[in-house]
Amino acid sequence: MKNGNNGSRRKFLYDIGLAGLSIPFISAVGNCTGETKKQKTMSAKNGKLGIALVGLGGYAGGQLAPALLQTEHCYLAGIVTGTPSKIPVWKEKYNIPDKNIYSYDNYDSIKDNPDIDIIYVVLPNNMHAEYTIRGFEAGKHVICEKPMAITVEDCDKMIAARKKANKLLSIGYRLHFEPYNLEMVRLGTQKIYGHLKKISGGFGFRAGPSQWRLTQKYAGGGPLMDVGIYVIQAMCYTTGMEPIAVTAQEGIKTDLERFSEVEQSLTWQMEFPNGLITECKTSYADNMNFLKAEAEKGIFELTSAYNYTGQKGNTPAGAMDFPHINQQARQMDAFALTVKNKKQSIVPGEMGRRDVKYLQAVYEAMRSGKRVLIKAE
Ligand code: NAD
Repeated sequence: MKNGNNGSRRKFLYDIGLAGLSIPFISAVGNCTGETKKQKTMSAKNGKLGIALVGLGGYAGGQLAPALLQTEHCYLAGIVTGTPSKIPVWKEKYNIPDKNIYSYDNYDSIKDNPDIDIIYVVLPNNMHAEYTIRGFEAGKHVICEKPMAITVEDCDKMIAARKKANKLLSIGYRLHFEPYNLEMVRLGTQKIYGHLKKISGGFGFRAGPSQWRLTQKYAGGGPLMDVGIYVIQAMCYTTGMEPIAVTAQEGIKTDLERFSEVEQSLTWQMEFPNGLITECKTSYADNMNFLKAEAEKGIFELTSAYNYTGQKGNTPAGAMDFPHINQQARQMDAFALTVKNKKQSIVPGEMGRRDVKYLQAVYEAMRSGKRVLIKAE
């Protein structure tokens, strides 16, 4: 945005490089980890914490590892993989010593490796809980990809393991570090254009012939689990509220074979305590990527909202004009700093668990055709 509201505040948010840290996306999470002085000495290399990526698939290889070449507070120290053929390429590209390369079988022995401070779990959704819990049992801090797990019960076990280990848990919610989405948060929660009257959002893409994403056991559901979760997040951070009820309708399946286990597309509505009802959609068959907020004094929106880069936004004051930063680098740097400073992540396990609860409520509404209340906890 060239002109408009509170420019210095916006500039400050992304200039500090950790914009999300300033935004109160959540309210119910404490500030301190309670780590004791017995905490092991960090393995900082040139002051950077070591991250081990668990699962070397598309996201780890395409986004996270390259981002770790740009981070200031952490670096790629190790890898955990079940595919030995991937090792030589990763070793050479990221200069990873043999002693920091693990298989799923010897993963637990990572506890003896002082080079690794943080485990980053980038596996299929149903494996997040196990590898996060084993990461905590190895005495490491953990970043876990979204969705945190496929059941709330698994989330509870992960949070319990975190507490027992007295370590930190963060979810891979990169958009909390992305300037255009942060601007939506500011405009929405500070009511810059008055009260919100309507919000809609959608994230979908044409899924390839994959894989675990189309299998209920691995993914826990279809596009809702994968990309619809971003829309759920956007509704919560743009309003600054948590929903009280949801309704949902499954879309028609045009490819019964591919979508034999999970939904092909889905629309759902989230009802907030002030009466606001938001319209949301997701799909594995259609491309969509937007977040639109209609307020009393005009519309503010992202027409490209959730991708790794290329966000575009408009407000009544003009087009948004923020730098396009490396979201993953900023997200991992923010977590490394919270570890160093013994603070809580701004995207903690409690937030991941909250969202899994909403995902399950949407599926319940889809299956039952009924309005599903979300119990406050
Ligand atoms: P992918 O299929 O490309 O990679 C998955 C990795 O897990 C592969 O290396 C595969 O070998 C490994 N794996 C181990 N056991 C497996 C098993 N039993 N079945 C299948 N794969 C197995 O997937 P991805 O796109 O990298 O997604 C991984 C995780 O990251 C998912 O939870 C996904 O939701 C998340 N993700 C997040 C973002 C984001 O923007 N935050 C983007 C993409 C993916």
